[in-house]
Amino acid sequence: TVIDWEAFACALDPVETISETSTVKRRSRDFFWYSPILNAQLKRSFGDLVALPQSIDEIAQCLRVAHAFDAPITIRGGGTGNYGQAVPMDGGLILDMTAFSDILDIGDGFVTVQAGANIKEVNEALNAKGWELAIFPSTQDIATIGGFVGGGSSGIGSVANGMLRDPGNILSLRAMSVTAAPEEHLFEGDAINHMHHAWGLNGVITEVTLRTVPHRDWIGCMATFDSYEECFSAGYALAQSAEVGRKLVSTVDARICAYFPKLEGHIRPEKHLMVSLVPREDLDAYRSLVAMQSGSVDLAMSEAELAAAKLPHVFEFSYNHTTLQVLKADRSATYLQVGVPTPPDPAKVAALAPKLGDDVWMHHEFALLNKEIVSFDLPIIWFTDEPRLREIEAIYEKDGFAVYDAHICMVEGGGLKNADYRHLAWKKRMDPKGLLNSAKSREWKNVAHLSPEQIEELIPEDADV
Ligand code: FAD
Repeated sequence: TVIDWEAFACALDPVETISETSTVKRRSRDFFWYSPILNAQLKRSFGDLVALPQSIDEIAQCLRVAHAFDAPITIRGGGTGNYGQAVPMDGGLILDMTAFSDILDIGDGFVTVQAGANIKEVNEALNAKGWELAIFPSTQDIATIGGFVGGGSSGIGSVANGMLRDPGNILSLRAMSVTAAPEEHLFEGDAINHMHHAWGLNGVITEVTLRTVPHRDWIGCMATFDSYEECFSAGYALAQSAEVGRKLVSTVDARICAYFPKLEGHIRPEKHLMVSLVPREDLDAYRSLVAMQSGSVDLAMSEAELAAAKLPHVFEFSYNHTTLQVLKADRSATYLQVGVPTPPDPAKVAALAPKLGDDVWMHHEFALLNKEIVSFDLPIIWFTDEPRLREIEAIYEKDGFAVYDAHICMVEGGGLKNADYRHLAWKKRMDPKGLLNSAKSREWKNVAHLSPEQIEELIPEDADV
């Protein structure tokens, strides 16, 4: 269908809209350019109109009008996803949620927010009342809660509090359907995961209640080591420690640290780096742990001290920020996402490095999964071509490491290799016309004609709840 976007914008009144081409183009992008493969696929995909709803009624109006015009809809938070999740592959309406951003309630162990709330602002409001988010992404300064729940998985806090999908981390959420009369639905308990990590395909998340934990006086710590094996061993020891609290443990190959100019003079050059956040009262125990692995504590600063020294948050050298620091200097870098076999074995990680070659520089994160500490590698890859990228993946897999494709813009890619028929049944309930970002599901076109109950019949018997 050809849509008359002027008529569409008029029908949205009084919702604020943007039709100016360069802004619409900018809001059609996220961090997909991390991947040369996705960059080639997505760089010319743009939406037609941006809407900035400010209230539940305005969101409902956007969805009612899009439903009437049969317009594709792409929901957008901060636009920091790195698989093109927020790119409108079929053009259409960009539903920018950032003007719907109130913090609604802060209580003991929880915060309720409107989905467009900025994560940094939520953390600041929580800190003032003695709380902090149990888990948040390293992009907190830009990202929204709705985008984190819609597209994220883990982050700062995961080493202590697990993955976002673990029971109790997302306490409840509300999402709105794309129908002639849009309705809000409440999701609690196991049902939350029908919406979490659905990339905006299954409904518009409007309100989220997240777990919070008591705020602590976190110190950003950087320790350096002669060998990556020692560095990784220290990371694993800290992640498991009974004596030292932590909400971040990342280890970074020395060659990557050469791309951290802001840390020059603050960490020993040409050494492997462990980045952590440790509570002030545990600093002595942390120093002993680092010394046990023959490391040196080069930096230990509070947020205020880091700011005074004009240094960023330490977590901006962790998670996908590590890749970003390298990309700032050289656009030929990219990355992979690889699971280390559990329990993580430093000798096995060290033995793998020479097999991978000089174009792969390791960077590991530690997180709690099913009550166990796990590790995953987000290595820097010096990209030459796709066959070499796939060869590197095969080397990892041959040694028993699990590769989660970081170069695919399909919800069935990455960590979720198979079609999730439970998700798709909810998509059918919440978005019967398939207007929400449907080009990002490989399987949707095969089930779109079925009822939600028929789609649920396709769920394999051994599927996880
Ligand atoms: P967007 O990119 O705007 O959206 C993400 C997805 O959610 C899209 O599919 C979008 O359609 C959907 N969506 C957005 N809002 C809603 C809504 N209200 N309802 C339904 N769907 C919605 N991820 C992590 O998990 N942990 C990390 O530590 C982390 N670090 C990162 C570091 C860098 C430098 C970069 C580039 C990315 C990183 N990511 C990380 C990925 C991404 O930043 C996070 O997932 C982030 O939380 C996304 O939030 P956002 O508001 O930017 O979402």
